[in-house]
Parts: sequence; structure tokens; C-alpha cells
Amino acid sequence: SMGERLWGCPLSQNVVGILCLISVAAALDFKYHHAEELEAYLKSVHAAYPSLTHLHSIGRSVEGRNLWVLVLGRFPTHHKIGIPEFKYVANMHGDETVGREILLHLIDFLVTSYGRDPVITRLLNNTRVHIMPTMNPDGFEATKVPDCYYSRGRYNKNGEDLNRNFPDAFESNNASIQPETRAVMNWIKNETFVLSANLHGGALVASYTFDNVTGSSKGYSRSPDDDVFIHLAKTYSFNHASMYKGTGCDNRQTFPEGITNGYSWYQLEGGMQDYNYVWGQCFEITLELSCCKYPPADQLEKFWRDNKVALIEYIKQVHLGVKGQVTDKNGDPIPNAIVEAKGRPHVCPYRTNQLGEYFLLLLPGTYVINATVPGFKSLLKTVEIPDTTGNFSALKQDFSFPEVSVRSRAASCPKIPLYQELEWASAAVKPTLHHILVLMTVLLVIFQ
Ligand SMILES: [Zn+2]
Repeated sequence: SMGERLWGCPLSQNVVGILCLISVAAALDFKYHHAEELEAYLKSVHAAYPSLTHLHSIGRSVEGRNLWVLVLGRFPTHHKIGIPEFKYVANMHGDETVGREILLHLIDFLVTSYGRDPVITRLLNNTRVHIMPTMNPDGFEATKVPDCYYSRGRYNKNGEDLNRNFPDAFESNNASIQPETRAVMNWIKNETFVLSANLHGGALVASYTFDNVTGSSKGYSRSPDDDVFIHLAKTYSFNHASMYKGTGCDNRQTFPEGITNGYSWYQLEGGMQDYNYVWGQCFEITLELSCCKYPPADQLEKFWRDNKVALIEYIKQVHLGVKGQVTDKNGDPIPNAIVEAKGRPHVCPYRTNQLGEYFLLLLPGTYVINATVPGFKSLLKTVEIPDTTGNFSALKQDFSFPEVSVRSRAASCPKIPLYQELEWASAAVKPTLHHILVLMTVLLVIFQ
């Protein structure tokens, strides 16, 4: 398979072929890549495409393995104003292996298509794509015998399930935060991620937030952005070769249109997708990509083909909705300004980053966007959001506070069960928009 990738390097001319090997990244086989091979592959890609990629480790696993992230984009090393940040994370359950390999093939596809395929070129010119093939490298290496259903390799070296290990918005999570989880939490804090997916195996479905709930729920835990999440999940399932059929696996549960609300499927505490949505200001869905958690390597090529279009179409959704900058009278950015769409308040209000930027994923339609700097009159703008994903840019809407000269100040949402506090604060009354706003005002006063 090496030969077909060496374009301009005829296989019959061995000497020329060897010369070409020096300048082109090693070809990627359809097989499982263990830690050293995975690292070598990522390094070879970065060496072959140094201006399109940035390779860094966001931390180390319990056993000391690097948690590698390859960033792709026209400006891979740093954030640029207006360019949204996207991420894929795979293999957080070490024995769920398909995502780990297809993300390597996605990397291969993106770097070899840039500059040739106009869509991929525009996508990478207007999006910064972060790819983490494995969040649980120890669990993968610990899985000595591939198994479709269960293995101890699901957990990290300390025996913790990383997808139960994050702070939870609904109840206190007593699990001790693992190094892999901490690394991802810091990563989420340091980047302005807008959209994400978390790749698993053991089912065939796109699952969306919330995974947990407080009080009565009637079998569905609805977020304020439920319509957007359904769209995101369907974008994946309908661009996948078969997920949209919803037939599930064997005689297990079926999923209409290949999607499900996380809680409707089964309740879990401390999951990564709820954490991203509540505290990371990042819409994340969970993709279950294979009925068999650790399928034979000879099926990997088919898994890549089944997922390729869906993986690309899903990234494009980072350009849904509206984005912009909040500035003061001097034109200086205002960090930590609250920018929300009316009627869909986040329990931890979404705030501008250090550059005064906000990104709100919204479906096409008319919305009122509210920009708030504590102590000043809110600015309201009515926006008509078109379908912009094909333009690779969300609608732009900036806000300028004419009377304000605001210095940056740190403020963060406390890592407590916010929804539980909300219920408690409203004394058994169902939370309403009013209650949420009252509580958040109290929290803002406390935590600024
Ligand atoms: Zn999993």
C-alpha cells in the first residue's frame, strides 16, 4: 500500500521511489496502530506537512504515555479571530478501537486533500481541527485480547471509567479526577472549542446531551439547544453508510434515524459530552461507531469508508449559527461578556473568550442575541441566521458597548451540580427562565 501514495514516484523505479519516501509521510495501513506506531505516524504527518499541522501532547496518561493531539488548519499553531475550533476525541474507552484508527485515516485524508480538493481546502482554511486519536492509550495497550463486548481496557490504568469522570451538572461526582480527564479539562479551558464529537464503540448511534438529569424527566433530558443537537446527530447518522437506518446491533435496542438523547438511552453521571456543553461552551455528541467494540483489523477499511463523509460533514457544522466580537468604546475586546440567544439560556451562561469572541451554534431562523456585561445595560440584536455551513462561516454579528471601558477579569462557572442547585434554590418549583437568571446573577456576583 506504500506505492499508491507515492504520487509521481513510479514503483518500477526503486531509486526514485526511495527518494520520494523522504519527502512524503509514511502511508497509512488499515491495521491497529499501537502507541509507538501511532506516535511515529503523527510525527511523520507533521514532518511532511509542517505548515498545515501542529502536533502537541496535552498531558500524560497514568502510565506516562503522551496524549497526542494533531491540529490541522491554515493556522494550526494558534487561534485566529473568527476561526472556530473543532475537535474529535476517540478511544477514551481503551477497548473501543474503531475511532482511534479512523481518526488516523481522517488525518491522512485531510492532509492529502488540502490544496487539491476545494472543499477540504476551504474547510481547513476556515476551521481549526483538533484530532485526538486516543484519550486512553493505557487502556488500549492493556486490551491484549480483542473482544466485541467487554474488556478491562475500557478503564484507565487506575480502573476509572473516563466517561464517568468529569464534573457533572446534575449531581456531585465523587470519582477522583484522573490525569487523562484533567488534561482534557485543561485543554477545553484553553481553547475556544465550539463543536466536538467523542468516538466510541459497542453500538451504532449518535447520542446527544444530556446524559444525566435531575428530578422528573419523562425519559428525555432536554437541553436548551435540543433542536441543534438533533440536527448535529442527524448530520452524522444520515451521512453515515448505515447509522441512519437505526437498526442497531443484533437484537439490541433500535434507534429511530440512528440518533438518541443520551439519557433516553441510559443515564450516566460524569460524562464528557455534558461537561463540554455545560462548562466548555462546546456542543459535543457521542458517536457509537461499531457494534463490535474491538473488531478485526480487516474490517477497518470498511469502517473508514462508512464514516468518511459523515466525519467531514459533521466538522462543517461548526459554521452553523452566529459569531462575533464584543468590544468596548475603545474597540478593545471584552472578555467574559455573556452572549446568549433569547429563550435558550445555558445554566452556566456562555461567555466571550479573551479576544471578546463568542460562537453560538443555532439552526437557520430569527433569534434575539443578548450581550451582557455585568453592571451595564444589555445589548439586544435581532439576527436572521441563514444556512451558512456551506460558506464555512457563521453569520457575523459584533457588539459594541459605547459607554464601557472594561478590563479583563477572570470569572468561571463553579464545578458544582448547577441544576441541583437550581432546583434547591427554586424550592421544588420547576426551574423557569426567571429562576435561572436570578441564580446566575447571584453566582456571577459571588464568583467575580
Ligand atoms: Zn465507550
